[in-house]
Amino acid sequence: MPNLTIPVGGRDFEVVQRKGLKDDDGESVFGLFDSSHDRISICLTKNKTVSEKRATAFHEALHAAFAMSGQSEVLVALCRDADQARAIEESLVIAIENMMWPRAIEVIQRLK
Ligand SMILES: [Zn+2]
Repeated sequence: MPNLTIPVGGRDFEVVQRKGLKDDDGESVFGLFDSSHDRISICLTKNKTVSEKRATAFHEALHAAFAMSGQSEVLVALCRDADQARAIEESLVIAIENMMWPRAIEVIQRLK
């Protein structure tokens, strides 16, 4: 069965699930967004339930939305360095995730 893909801004991001996921600094992470490979990775070690995996996929899809809409680059241009831009993007992604996931998404999907 092919992996699920999440369409964001006209591109399909393949969702890959694997154990022991780490970022470029070697830190264990819940998920990763990789724009150069059109991939969203979900860590099976850290995300124990389907609900946790879905929340992580939504979080990483928001990072994809920031990238695809050019907002990640706007943050890099406005910030003093890439670390500050990443920190602000992470804060915005977490804010949107916590405000919308999962209840707002569930209710919107019931609209007829
Ligand atoms: Zn994040």
